[in-house]
Amino acid sequence: MTQMEEARGGRITAQMREVAAQEHMPEDIVRERIAAGVMSIPFNRRRIALGLPQPKGCGIGLGLRTKVNANIGTSQDFPSPEAEFAKLTAACESGADAIMDLSTGGDIQSIRRSLLERCPVPVGTVPIYDAAVQAFAKGGGIKTMTAIGMMQAVQAHAEQGVDFLTIHCGVTREVIRTLERSPRVCGIVSRGGTFLSAWMSCHNKENPFYEQFDDILALCREHDVTISLGDGLRPGALADAMDRAQLHELNILAELVQRCREAGVQTIVEGPGHVPLQQVETQVRLQKELCKGAPFYVLGPLVTDVAPGYDHITAAIGGAVAAAAGVDFICYVTPAEHLGLPDIEHVREGVIAARIAGHAGDIAKGIPGAAEWDRDFSTARRARDWDRQLNTCMDPIRAHKLRAERRPGKEEVCSMCGEFCTYRITEEAQRQKNQGTA
Ligand code: SF4
Repeated sequence: MTQMEEARGGRITAQMREVAAQEHMPEDIVRERIAAGVMSIPFNRRRIALGLPQPKGCGIGLGLRTKVNANIGTSQDFPSPEAEFAKLTAACESGADAIMDLSTGGDIQSIRRSLLERCPVPVGTVPIYDAAVQAFAKGGGIKTMTAIGMMQAVQAHAEQGVDFLTIHCGVTREVIRTLERSPRVCGIVSRGGTFLSAWMSCHNKENPFYEQFDDILALCREHDVTISLGDGLRPGALADAMDRAQLHELNILAELVQRCREAGVQTIVEGPGHVPLQQVETQVRLQKELCKGAPFYVLGPLVTDVAPGYDHITAAIGGAVAAAAGVDFICYVTPAEHLGLPDIEHVREGVIAARIAGHAGDIAKGIPGAAEWDRDFSTARRARDWDRQLNTCMDPIRAHKLRAERRPGKEEVCSMCGEFCTYRITEEAQRQKNQGTA
């Protein structure tokens, strides 16, 4: 049985219990929200049979802390698995709640297996990458992908123990026709969406993931794999945001959410992308309305196109607004986005930037514990309790490093103001006043 079916049967699973404890939420509320499909806990039950470690509980959805995903994975130019495992460690140390393996270089099946063995948090993948990599390896390009190969990739990932699968089921022929009637500045920028639209165009056929959605549901139900409904038509430029093709696909994803719920399969819906700041809240509300509260997973969103090298910042600005408006899951963006495969430092920066965005949104949403963290931290700042500040902040590693590098002359202050420290001067004035009145 899936988590959703257990919840509908009135049973609270170990994963629901773990999430309830982490989030200070009554277990019954978690159960009710899983049953309703407005919360998901990615956890592939096949991990148990395969002897894989059980990932840390990761609840995504209504009333929960906004979660952060870090993408890692080899490319043809950087196929080293060790480099990606080092990034996995860095991402988890920095506080990533989930990891997606987007490997396209080297032995991607064995990389995925090793990742599942080492990763302490849920793992997601995009199975169509396997089908595309195999097609290119044979020298035939996308045209030589087959519908059977694509479905076999979904099955292989589910049976290997992957917890959530991004499947671009909404890239239908009708959606592509809508796109052709309203051309974009950047066209299709999702890799999965591009593979599918190119294949559909070559073969003049419908998207196999849409046509065979019932088979995907049966497979995901068998292993309790969470389906992350991919947004193949996500805008890759501000000028393309909220165009007819994006909205057409979103309507299809909303129908598929309903079919997932009827089948007892947990679901997440993926979203943009590049979005002008003034549209971010509208886009979140629209998705939540159409998809009846399904957990929403966004990439950024990036609120300007023109800052390569700083896209962890453009994404965090959009991510904060999106999280405040109800987004549940943020995929990080690193400073290397649009420029190259990220290195370890980029991964750290990307995770922290996304966590800052999520936390800012959590404060606005009133998530229990979010505003309290800031209040406690500010109390330590006012008291110039440096140990507490350095150890309870968002990124203790960086804070310790900067404090050590920019050492103050007087330890009780920092080297920004030194003896002109406002807190110190206020305390001194209060002390003198107290002495005067004593
Ligand atoms: S020295 Fe200035 S910046 Fe540093 S803690 Fe005091 S007031 Fe803050």
